Amino acid sequence: MAKKTIGIEIDDAIFTKAKAKAAADDKTINRIVVEALYAYVGETPPPLPKPEPEPPAQPVPPKKSTIYVVQSGDTLGAIAKKMYGTPTKYYVIQKANNLSDPGKIWVGQKLVIPPLDGATQPATSAPTPQPTPQPTPTPPTPAPQPGTDEPGLKNPRPADIEFVGSPNFNRRPDGEISAIVMHATANGSLERLIDWFNKPTAQVSAHYTIGKDGTIVQHVRDEFRAWHAGKSEWNGRKDLNSWSIGIEQVNWNNGEDPFPEAQYEAAFDLVAYLCEKYAIDPDMILAHYDVSPNRKTDPKGYDMQRLRDTVRLRLQK
Ligand SMILES: [Zn+2]
Repeated sequence: MAKKTIGIEIDDAIFTKAKAKAAADDKTINRIVVEALYAYVGETPPPLPKPEPEPPAQPVPPKKSTIYVVQSGDTLGAIAKKMYGTPTKYYVIQKANNLSDPGKIWVGQKLVIPPLDGATQPATSAPTPQPTPQPTPTPPTPAPQPGTDEPGLKNPRPADIEFVGSPNFNRRPDGEISAIVMHATANGSLERLIDWFNKPTAQVSAHYTIGKDGTIVQHVRDEFRAWHAGKSEWNGRKDLNSWSIGIEQVNWNNGEDPFPEAQYEAAFDLVAYLCEKYAIDPDMILAHYDVSPNRKTDPKGYDMQRLRDTVRLRLQK
């Protein structure tokens, strides 16, 4: 098809404003003009071309065993990506360090990173005390069933979390879990939210929802990517859905509807458990409005600092 290029003069203030608005919609000014022209003649604009993802720089896998010190926000998958270039090799690190649960690592822990070809040999000089060797699960490791006890956590999984499911999830590209995003549902009932998250057409979900009475339900397993944050960014990193856990709280999000103490207490229990289990720094407990500041106001009126402070105390105990 023949193409025509058009040039127009436009007031600078309007242009700047329109450009910012377009960027918030993930579009360019050109695209906005194209869509307007197509709409004007009553035709459908061509679909946006998919952006080519930049190929990530591949790390060189170590030739001999090295030691890696676990950083805040690390998961075995993230470490495997850093060291081997792919999160799928996490089981090599898990096996070399005799970790029975790949979710249980802690900041400051020293891990042996074996070379990939030596992956089947046991590590000779592991710096951490070795627990009894466990049979190595084949990846992907199934997550504990909801409600299963996980011994060894100071902040155990809150009891009686009902798994209510949701079809709205997919795989985490890196298997990483290193932030929590708190939300408010902007509706008044847990039941209605569960129904909503169970509609495939809704295309939204969260991992957990906390009711006003402190009831916690789970919609999506932690290891999967729930769809709660949308267009989002924190510390220069985009797409919080891929690396965070989303927690909804039943609240009208008008700044007046109160968050009852039972709801706070349930959030303290749940978030402390998640932060301990996945070694998430309490500074990475974020509000939806932190990560999508131009689009979102939830959870309005919720005391985020109280949540962070309480969780930090519970992790230190
Ligand atoms: Zn939200």
